[in-house]
Amino acid sequence: MLRLPRFGVQTPDTLEDAVAALAQPGARLVAGGTDILPNLKHRLDQPPVLVSLSRVASLREIREEDGNLVIGAGVTLTEIAEHDRVRALFPSVAYAAGVIASPLIRNMGTLGGNVNLDTRCRYVNQTHFWRTAIGGCLKSEGDVCHVVPKGRICVAAMSSDLVPVLGSLGSTLVNQGPDGPRELPLLDYYGADGTAHIKREPGEVTREVRIPLPSTPTRARYAKWTVRKSIDFPLVSVAINVQLASDSVDAEVTGVSVVVGVLGSKPRVVTRLDEVIGRKLSDATVAHTVATRVHAQCKPLENVPYEAPYRRQMIRVFAQRAIEEMVAEG
Ligand SMILES: Cc1cc2nc3c(=O)[nH]c(=O)nc-3n(C[C@H](O)[C@H](O)[C@H](O)COP(=O)(O)OP(=O)(O)OC[C@H]3O[C@@H](n4cnc5c(N)ncnc54)[C@H](O)[C@@H]3O)c2cc1C
Ligand code: SF4
Repeated sequence: MLRLPRFGVQTPDTLEDAVAALAQPGARLVAGGTDILPNLKHRLDQPPVLVSLSRVASLREIREEDGNLVIGAGVTLTEIAEHDRVRALFPSVAYAAGVIASPLIRNMGTLGGNVNLDTRCRYVNQTHFWRTAIGGCLKSEGDVCHVVPKGRICVAAMSSDLVPVLGSLGSTLVNQGPDGPRELPLLDYYGADGTAHIKREPGEVTREVRIPLPSTPTRARYAKWTVRKSIDFPLVSVAINVQLASDSVDAEVTGVSVVVGVLGSKPRVVTRLDEVIGRKLSDATVAHTVATRVHAQCKPLENVPYEAPYRRQMIRVFAQRAIEEMVAEG
């Protein structure tokens, strides 16, 4: 049995008190604990104190405000998956939240924990004993990367299910820090170094994610490949959001956003999709073009289980299927 290290726990009642408590040297936040506690058991970090967000009621709201659906960082994955307005406005978000892990983990895990999820790698999400047997790596006790042996930075995978979807919808993230709130595009929050892939300023707590309400008809989808149907992190994932000239799959595509997860430490925004603009979504070349661009631009690494070339093929398959399913649904 893996034991937790010793640490103190503080349970502030307000966001301001949580920000103040986070100023203590080495303090870390805990929300549902479904990511950080396993990592502490694996000795990937040894904070002296955890600041729990479980009593901060202001983080648990979902509301519509200024043309956005605002989801508080403390809202659980189950609440997101089951919320009527989330399901009606952003079915791909509800779907992605509902396929994370398992019901018990979704009841504990939160949006804030999901967007601040640590990166994952087959060489680091192991016991301390296992890691030290291979000399550690840049993200743990060593100074090499086993995935890219001559690489200078860690390329552990960003494995959150919600980040690609929220990114494809143009969401922003609001962090509350000692100097007040800071809002930034969600996709700008992630960097390429898997040892520090989140651009969170010292003392900041994620307060909410804001998803802009669509001004035109849209179709959105999230597809995740896993070996088992439950409990597994994605091995590849793709989120697609298509804007249409009118509310029909036979309408012209006016915009498209495709974001792929589980490559390196940040989500990948697929480019060169202009070719599909002006075509009907139901035109088979749209699904084919998107899948081709995804395959050309997304090259998985051997950072998570399953062979990278196979995972690359699967992203193409899942991207194509996602659009075909949008069309079939009408
Ligand atoms: C068996 C298993 C399977 C899993 N499968 C999946 C999966 O399929 N897909 C997936 O996406 N995830 C998966 N997870 C990971 C995790 O359960 C979820 O990502 C969950 O949303 C994390 O939320 P949490 O509240 O439990 O985070 P915590 O563990 O509490 O925190 C995670 C990280 O976020 C930070 N944090 C938490 N809240 C905030 C905040 N408000 N502001 C700033 N930082 C914050 C913490 O300091 C910590 O670094 C899995 C976990 C397990 C154990
Ligand atoms: S990508 Fe390399 S440095 Fe990063 S966790 Fe994996 S082996 Fe370690």
